[in-house]
Amino acid sequence: EARSNTPTDADLTRWDRDHHLHPWASTDSWRKDDYMRINTADGIYLWDSTGKKFIDGPGGMWCVQIGYGRKDMADAIAKQVVEMPYASPWSSTSEPAAVLARRIAEMTPGDLNTVFFTTGGSTAVDTALRTVQFYNNRLGRPDKKLIIAREKGYHGSTYLASSVTGKERFNTKFDKSDLVRFLPDVNPYGRPEGVSLEDWCDQKVADLETLIAEEGAENIGCFIAEPILCSGGVIVPPPGYHQRTLEVCRANDILYISDEVVTGFGRLGHWFASQEVFGIEPDMITCAKGLTSGYLPLGACIVSDALMTAMEEPEGAEVFYNGFTYSGHPVSCAAALKNIEIMEDEDILGHVQRVAPHFQDRLRAIGERFDIVGDVRGMGLLGCIECRLDLPRKSLEADLKFGARLDAVCEEMGLMLRPFGNMAVFSPPLIISKEETDRMFDIMEAGLEKLS
Ligand code: PLP
Repeated sequence: EARSNTPTDADLTRWDRDHHLHPWASTDSWRKDDYMRINTADGIYLWDSTGKKFIDGPGGMWCVQIGYGRKDMADAIAKQVVEMPYASPWSSTSEPAAVLARRIAEMTPGDLNTVFFTTGGSTAVDTALRTVQFYNNRLGRPDKKLIIAREKGYHGSTYLASSVTGKERFNTKFDKSDLVRFLPDVNPYGRPEGVSLEDWCDQKVADLETLIAEEGAENIGCFIAEPILCSGGVIVPPPGYHQRTLEVCRANDILYISDEVVTGFGRLGHWFASQEVFGIEPDMITCAKGLTSGYLPLGACIVSDALMTAMEEPEGAEVFYNGFTYSGHPVSCAAALKNIEIMEDEDILGHVQRVAPHFQDRLRAIGERFDIVGDVRGMGLLGCIECRLDLPRKSLEADLKFGARLDAVCEEMGLMLRPFGNMAVFSPPLIISKEETDRMFDIMEAGLEKLS
C-alpha cells in the first residue's frame, strides 16, 4: 500500500493536469490528463506508468545519444554535486567548465575556439544572435540588424530564437521580433516537376541572393540555418547548398550561424555536421541536447577567433552583457564531459556510421513499399516519413494527422514516434543496435500496413 506521502497515480494525473503547463499545449486541451507518464528508462527503452515498454523513437527530444540508465553518468553527476555544485560564472570558473570549453573547441571546425555556455538550445541561439548585434554595433555598423532565417526552421522558444523560427510563425498569438526575414522552403520534396536537385539548389541560393539584394547587405547581420531542418521535418538540403549559401554570406559580409542543436554530438556520425558532413566553417555554431545526452540541461554558442578578435579591436572596452546564472554550470559540464568520454570510449560516432546505412536503407524501403507514403528522408540516425496528401481515396483530414495516427498504432506495438502533422520523425538513441533498428522499422511497417 502507498505510504501516506506517496502520491497515487490519480494524484499525479490530477496535479499534472491542474498545475503543470506543458510546452506547446493547446488551449482546448491544456487541462488534459492523458500525458503518458514515463517512470523508468534503460538503453533505448522507456516504461510508462502502466509498465508498458517502448522503443524511444524520438530519443527523448532528439537528445538521448548514449541511451538511458547510465550509472557512470549518475556517478559523475553525483561526484560533482558533492564536490562543488555551483560556481558563479561572473566571478569564477570551475574545472568542468574550463575542461569542457577546451574539449568543445577541439571538436569544432576551423577557428571556432571560444565557448559561451547557456542553459539549452534556445539560449544558445539567442546568444549567437545577440553576439551578432554586439559585433556590428561595436564595429559602428548599427544598421546591420536584419536576420535571415528559413521557413520551417526551428530555433527555440525564447523571444529572439522563436522569432527566427519559421515553423508555425503565422499561427501564433506570440509576438515576434520584426528584424527577421525568411527564405522560402528548401525542401527538395514537392519541388516542381522537371526541376533537378542541381536546379533546386541554384534556386535556393538565388532566393538568398535576391533577399540580400532587396534588403541591402548593409542592413543584414546574419543568416541562421540548421544543417538539416530537423523539427521542420528532417529536411536535407540539396548537395552544395550550405557551402554556396556560406559563400554568398561571406561575399556580403553577413555572419553565418549553424544551429547544430540536433545535428551536433553524433546524430550524423560526427561531433559536428557543419564541416564533416556539409563542408562549411561557420562563424558560430550553437549546440545543446546531445552535449549531455539530455541527462542535464546545457547549451553552448561557439564563436570563431576572427569574430572574437574583431570585437576586441575597436577603441574603448565595452561589456558583453550576456549571461545566465547557470552559464557553465559545473554539474551540467561534468555531465557533458562524462557523456563525451562515454561516446569516445564506446566509439559511438563509429557505431552511428556503421548503423546509419542500414537505418537509411530500411527507411528508403518504406518509401518504395507504401503508397500512402509520399516521401521518406533522413541522414545518419535521423528519419522522417511524410504522408502523401494527394491520394483521392483518402480523407485529407486524416492524412494531415498521419503522424499522430502512425504514432498511435506504433505505440500499441511498443514504439514511440514524434508526430508533426502529416509526418512522423524519429531520432533514436545513438546506441541503437542493428537488431533494434530492424525491430523499430518492422513496427513502423506493421503500423503503415494498418493505415494503408
Ligand atoms: N535549435 C534547434 C535546431 C532545435 O531543434 C531546438 C529544439 O528542438 C532548439 C534550437 C531549442 O533548444 P531548447 O529546446 O533546448 O531550448
